[in-house]
This record gives sequence, C-alpha cells and structure tokens, in this order.
Amino acid sequence: MRLTKTTSFFLVLVLVAGALYAFREPLSMAIAKRVAAQRMSSNPIQDLPDGLHIAVCGAGSPMPDEKRGGPCTLVIAGQKMFVFDTGNASVRNINKMGFNTGLIDGIFLTHFHSDHIDGMGELLLQRWVSNSNSQPVKVYGPDGVETVVNGFMQAYSLDRGYRVAHHGEAIVPNSGFGAQAIRFNAQAFETALVYDSQDTQIYAFNVAHAPIHPAVGYKIQYKDRNIVISGDTTPSVHVTKASQGVDVLIHEAMSMELMKLLQEGAKTAKRDKLEQIMKDITDYHTSPVQAAQIAQEAQVAYLLLHHIAPPLPLPGLVDVFLKGTSDVFKGKILVAKDGDFLSLPAGQKTIQVKQLF
Ligand SMILES: [Zn+2]
Ligand SMILES: [Zn+2]
Repeated sequence: MRLTKTTSFFLVLVLVAGALYAFREPLSMAIAKRVAAQRMSSNPIQDLPDGLHIAVCGAGSPMPDEKRGGPCTLVIAGQKMFVFDTGNASVRNINKMGFNTGLIDGIFLTHFHSDHIDGMGELLLQRWVSNSNSQPVKVYGPDGVETVVNGFMQAYSLDRGYRVAHHGEAIVPNSGFGAQAIRFNAQAFETALVYDSQDTQIYAFNVAHAPIHPAVGYKIQYKDRNIVISGDTTPSVHVTKASQGVDVLIHEAMSMELMKLLQEGAKTAKRDKLEQIMKDITDYHTSPVQAAQIAQEAQVAYLLLHHIAPPLPLPGLVDVFLKGTSDVFKGKILVAKDGDFLSLPAGQKTIQVKQLF
C-alpha cells in the first residue's frame, strides 16, 4: 500500500503524539525541574531596562472574573518594587509573573474597601518568609491604615509563631513579620509627596468615592517617566490634574450598560436588595468613556482601564465595554487583564506592552 504525503504526515503526527503521551511523566518532570531552578534563581527586576514598569497583579473588582483578580498593581521603579492595593489574587499573580514577593519595598493603599485589602495578609506573610526579611514592610495609606494593618497582624499572629517555631529565627526572623503602617493626612491636601527616595517620588491626592473618606489616587514618578493610579473614584478633577501629560493613566472603569444587565437579572430573580446594591455601586465609579475623557483632557499617552467591572467573560463584551472610548481619546487604550506588563524605559518615550502569563 502506498501512502500519500498527507497520510504519512498524519501518521507521523499520531506517532509523535503517542510518544509524548507515553513519556508525559518524565518529560513533565524534566520541564518542571528546569522551571523550578529558573524561578528560584531569577530576579526579573535586574533583567529589566532602567525605568518604570507596571505589572497587573489584579485588574478586576469584587465580582468574579476568570481573567481578573481583585485590584493590585505592581510598580517597579528602577530597582525598587511597590504594590498598589492588595486584592485577593495579589500573591498568586505576583509569583505567576515571576516576581519575588520577598523583594517588595512598600505597599500603598488607595482606600479600605475589602476588595483592595483582602489579599494583604497573605502578601505580608509571603514577603516575610520568602526572603528572610528582618524588617516589616511599610504600608502607606490615609487615615485608617493602622486599623487595617493591625487587624492583619493580629489575624496572622498565631501563624507567625508557627513559622518561627518550624523554620527557626535565622530563616524567618521574628522582627520581619508583618507591616508598619505609615499614615498620611489625606484630608489636608490635594497632592502631597508621600514617598521620596533618590529617583522615585510618589504623590497621593484625594479622589471622589463618597461616602468613602478618605480615598486617594497616586502619581508615581521615576526619572523622566510617570504614571497615575486613580484608585476608586467618580470622574475627579484631581485625577485629571495629577495626570497632565503622564505616560500611563491607570483608571478604574465600570460599564454602566453592563451593570444594567446585572440589575435587571437581580430584578428578574426577585432579589430586590441585590438589585439595589447593583444600582448603588454605579454611583461611585467611572464609566470607560468618562475615563477616556479624562485621559484626553490630561493628554496622557496611554490609558490602562483597570478595576474592570462587571466581569467580561466573553470577548465581545470587551467591545461593549470600550464602546465610544476611541471617539473621545486618541491615544492607546487597553482593558487590563492579570499578567499585563507595561514597560517604560527611562530616557525614552516608548511604552512596551506584553503579557507575562
Ligand atoms: Zn474597589
Ligand atoms: Zn472602593
């Protein structure tokens, strides 16, 4: 029997697939061994060009979205690493992206809604044990930050004892457990310098998330590159002001059109109270078009929509989410997903975008 070229090709394909399947265990072990060694030895920060880098460790809201954990933004400024808000997937996503939680230099909170802090306990624990840190990490925030930090310290106090007893003081120094709250006064200023070290300056400013007070956004400056994180807010003149000419504006966004579907769903299910909650939450957020208007007014180069609500489980919903935005903002817009990575090398105007997973 003579085989045609196509039949031979498929036969080879089937044989290769069969061999891969038969040897899947040793093959997987060999790959896992290599990846484990790479992960343990690498410090991705050292491999990055000097500049400002954004790694999305949580692009979502409290509503479950497969592609988006609770709000979390990892910012690398030179050789320093900061986390802005600690949503529920923070630790997993930071590790998945290949960064070492033990090297976090500071955590900044925008406000204390549960979705912005619910990953903090685990992040503090991992930061302590994964690099034998002997100093607690500083957690910066407006009034109330001590309550949140002390609460997590209290909740993890038993585990603190377990870890020291199990691994020993030399590996997990007792003094490095947890965090030190650094409170700044958000009522008294519009924009204030809250962190200043060599080439990195971080400013906080009030935003409009009533009835939540205080609620702030941040501007991060490293050499000649800069970004703004809006935090949770309705369209705010403070965000527009802080964002004038910045490279990247990371702005929260909620599709009012899609939220309406959830309200109607709750109504059909006769869940009146849930329907009311779905209605209430639209009054302290910003629509994608409003975020685009702010980006245009501030003349930013790149708009990263973040804190995406509601979830977008179908690709077509991303188009619904973005409807009308390109009419008002002429720069680039991206609907953030966990693992998105934006690189802003110092001394250049470029913004490189890739996905780390
Ligand atoms: Zn939120
Ligand atoms: Zn909020």
